[in-house]
Amino acid sequence: MHPLQVGPYAIDKKIGAGGMGTVFLGRHRDTGQLAAVKVLPPSLAREDGFVARFTREIDAMKRLANPHVVELFDSGVDHETYYYAMEYVEGETLTSKLMREKRMPWRESVDVALQICVALKAAHDAGIIHRDLKPSNLLIATDGTVKLTDFGVAQVFAGGKLTVTGGIIGTAEYMSPEQAAGARATKKSDLYSLGAVLYAMLTGRPPFTGKTTLEVMQKHRHAQFDRASRYVADLPHWLDDLVSQLLDKDPDKRPPDAYVLSKRLQEILRKVELSSGAAETVAGVPTGSGTSAESGGHDGPGVATLMRDLVQHEVREAQKLSPIASFFDNIWVLLVLFVLLIGGGIAWFKYRTLPPDQQYAAGVALMDQPEGPDWLRARDQYFQPLVQSDPDTWQEKIQPHLDRIALYDWKSSVTRKRPRKNDSAVRSEPQRLLQIAQHAYEAGDWPRAERMLAALVTLLKDDPDHQPLHAAAVELLDGVRKQRTLAVDEYLVPALSRVKTLSSEGKKDEARKLLDSLRVLYGDDPAAPELLRSARDELETEPALSP
Ligand code: ADP
Ligand code: MG
Repeated sequence: MHPLQVGPYAIDKKIGAGGMGTVFLGRHRDTGQLAAVKVLPPSLAREDGFVARFTREIDAMKRLANPHVVELFDSGVDHETYYYAMEYVEGETLTSKLMREKRMPWRESVDVALQICVALKAAHDAGIIHRDLKPSNLLIATDGTVKLTDFGVAQVFAGGKLTVTGGIIGTAEYMSPEQAAGARATKKSDLYSLGAVLYAMLTGRPPFTGKTTLEVMQKHRHAQFDRASRYVADLPHWLDDLVSQLLDKDPDKRPPDAYVLSKRLQEILRKVELSSGAAETVAGVPTGSGTSAESGGHDGPGVATLMRDLVQHEVREAQKLSPIASFFDNIWVLLVLFVLLIGGGIAWFKYRTLPPDQQYAAGVALMDQPEGPDWLRARDQYFQPLVQSDPDTWQEKIQPHLDRIALYDWKSSVTRKRPRKNDSAVRSEPQRLLQIAQHAYEAGDWPRAERMLAALVTLLKDDPDHQPLHAAAVELLDGVRKQRTLAVDEYLVPALSRVKTLSSEGKKDEARKLLDSLRVLYGDDPAAPELLRSARDELETEPALSP
């Protein structure tokens, strides 16, 4: 049985099911757009924080547009059922291809891996980690395009009841050791999983197998896999090494990122071509003509043959030196040219200036990055020069950015362990006060921090010179209040209920001692008097306790 309608999608048929739900083929009521609609099990939606995680991850995925990433159309909730609709990919999953073909030739495996690299680079650049890269999430379209799906979905399910026992993790065969150990997944975890997928394509089996999910997870953490070359006779040793490097237990030893990985894979393709070309030459194939006969099996000249001919041509040409060429054939001349070239490059890089509009756009782009040193770069490199050169045009436009940067700069100068020496000289009185409040905050002295911050917020509210400080104070005050409420809820309230229990059990003395201690510790907390008073009222019958 399947639903007839999910959100705006009329459901046609079921196309699959996995640990995280059921996938249907649907058609949009209004646009007629075909879609794969994934419907999540209702039990999940009841778990703590699920909805927030769902929304966050889905929003992230919507930003990803890449030919190798399955496009996310939309998402929603229909009768308490969460779903998301994505591009329907006609074709098959890598799982079913591997089931049918057992394993794939190494060149084809590299081609698939290269396409996955493109998807991962796009996602990682956007700050999204896949977390569950495996053959069933790789869809191969009928034209051979590989598309990665279910980005970040694993994260939506994490955090609730342990996913292994909950049966949510369908397979751990492609899971990185750090994820198996319960640590956060990083970009490097995706690279490990890609290594495991590549291994499976090459050898026809994942690097580790076991009877239970937990056993496989243990192996990812502690066991050694057989090198892929053990199963694949014609595997270039460079590829064998690269797969092993991807599967390193230590994330730091894996290639740095998906882009570098794609370059290494391409390099392997080239090296294999070149070395087979070299082998032909060594084998005494006639040189010069470069026609089809020697390139064994191909119709035209192979890549290797072409490359070799090209090199030989270059060498021959180079030997016939013209007068100009002989001038350049001198190491000193070359060195001087080299130095001039580098120097010119550096000078160009340093003194090039963008047109003002582009400078502004570059600054704004940096401001779109999360709060951090990029913002200072935006200020120093783009905004300030613009304001200085043409304040009439830019001042007003840029000022809001400069205010935000000033706030950030101030906040980080306060949290820096060692303050910059000349900072204190220019520090204004409100800055000094705010810094004391911040120290109180960091020391956990919330009542004091809150009192000071509330006062500063009032004081600076209408002071045009100190708007960034005002904003900082508001932000800190908000943080302090949250922390304090948390402390009261998590510690004071349960402790007071202990007082109550003791008192109702007739252990008045103990109850009183406990209450007195809480008054010492929480007496100046703005939320506490109310609570403390009502607890004291419970013990009111005892005259000794009245203040
Ligand atoms: P899993 O990834 O664990 O196999 P899923 O619920 O993600 O489970 O997917 C179940 C199956 O549905 C997949 O194996 C695939 O066959 C199919 N499927 C998923 N997404 C799509 C899609 N966008 N287009 C076509 N088929 C899909
Ligand atoms: Mg999936």
